[in-house]
Amino acid sequence: MKRKRHKARSVWIDITFSAAIVLLTLSAIFLVFMTENGHTASQSEKETKSSSPLETEQIDSNYPGIKIVTKTSNDKNAPFAIQYPQSIHSSFNSEVKNYIDEVQVRYLDTLTKKKQQDKKTTGELNISYETLPHASGNYSFVLVTSSRYSDTDTGKTEIRSFHLNPETGESFTIRDLFEDDSDRLQSLSSLVRAEILKDESLKGHLIQKDMERFTEPRWMNYRNFSVTDDALIFYFDENTIANNIVGPPIIAVSIDAVKELLATTFKPEDKEETVDIVDKDKGEEIAEENIEENSTVPSSETEVSKENDETETTLPETSLRKKVALTFDDGPDPKVTRQILNTLQKHDAKATFFMLGSRVEYYPDIVNEMMEAGHELGNHTWTHADLTKLGPDRVAKEIEKTSAIIEEVTGQKVEAFRPPYGAVNDAVHNMTGLPIILWDVDTLDWKYRDSARILQVVKENVKDGSIILMHDIHQSTADGLDAVLTYLSNEGYDFVTVKELEETSS
Ligand code: ZN
Repeated sequence: MKRKRHKARSVWIDITFSAAIVLLTLSAIFLVFMTENGHTASQSEKETKSSSPLETEQIDSNYPGIKIVTKTSNDKNAPFAIQYPQSIHSSFNSEVKNYIDEVQVRYLDTLTKKKQQDKKTTGELNISYETLPHASGNYSFVLVTSSRYSDTDTGKTEIRSFHLNPETGESFTIRDLFEDDSDRLQSLSSLVRAEILKDESLKGHLIQKDMERFTEPRWMNYRNFSVTDDALIFYFDENTIANNIVGPPIIAVSIDAVKELLATTFKPEDKEETVDIVDKDKGEEIAEENIEENSTVPSSETEVSKENDETETTLPETSLRKKVALTFDDGPDPKVTRQILNTLQKHDAKATFFMLGSRVEYYPDIVNEMMEAGHELGNHTWTHADLTKLGPDRVAKEIEKTSAIIEEVTGQKVEAFRPPYGAVNDAVHNMTGLPIILWDVDTLDWKYRDSARILQVVKENVKDGSIILMHDIHQSTADGLDAVLTYLSNEGYDFVTVKELEETSS
């Protein structure tokens, strides 16, 4: 049964499931971390300013030792959205970065060539990834690269995996999982072939000869993989073992099926034995602890409603002033977003953050700080994909997964959506079920990365009721914000969320 579920879920992990597990483990890890270092959350916040950015992000990430890097270009001629993992280990970092650079160069080259043939060519490059932790502390990162060069082009999807032991900084490969043993490789090959033949989604798409060739017992064939506590998952290139299916074939083998072949580090803990050792009383204690941890969730919800009451009561006093809604996209970022939150607090300003679900998964703490400070939490998809170029299933997943993780982290419902690149069509419009919020003042902060220029654009374009677009992943944006807020405040503007703006204008 377990195996079937893995097969069906393709590249997309069932986020409600994994986030729940991640949050539970995180709270445990975080508790251990705090007691070991004698830190409190607020102490480590104060320290972030003096410590190096890498260390800061390491502490804040949901995945210890890993940060998520997001690069977006809203350039209409060559848009891209790229996300990749980085650690504190330079060899792993350059391995990933080299691949990213190579893909980006390939994309821009192809686009340039295609433009020479047809000036109207538009491209799109999207790299996103999944983080799959293993009980041993090792990580598998599965990078999914999709590129296309016209609206009718179905595009190409490429999957590459990277693997890190965050303690040693060493990468591991499929050989390490099987101790470089050719007999074990032979067994693996047979297991994978059996899974392929059982896979319903591949029925009628398999080419026997190719399937055998690409699953031959050669390490190369199994280089793209991820290892979790439940399964060993393999990612094959598009049109290799199967044809005319959506995306690259993904084959999961249950850990139970391969456990005898795995190196000690990756062998599953024998669950039955540990259950036997734990006596009844201890088992109950653990169960009670879990309940206590869970019961802390509703208490933060009550804090939310308090915050909302406070903001509502302050509204009437300020209604004569002009209003502007500041919006920040593509975050959260542990350093930049936190600096922005501090600046907003200084000016008693409320703003709206349109966040990527993939980053919320990494940095839940900062999202809670945002919510507690009374800012509005908005949905900006999971991977920053151009939704007008995706099928309905993908569009739904991009939006639903993101709302789900924001709600899971904060207990607050998401009530605003901003499509990446501002790209909407009727299909996207009908599917969101949320108000679609665009903007009228584009600071182009992502393009110029110039703190002073943001104020200049705002001065020239702002009016009562404006929605200003900025991005909380660029240091220059955080650095330029104070001047923008000072200027607008002196001009008689109050800073409200998009929801408040909509309520007062209607
Ligand atoms: Zn964006």
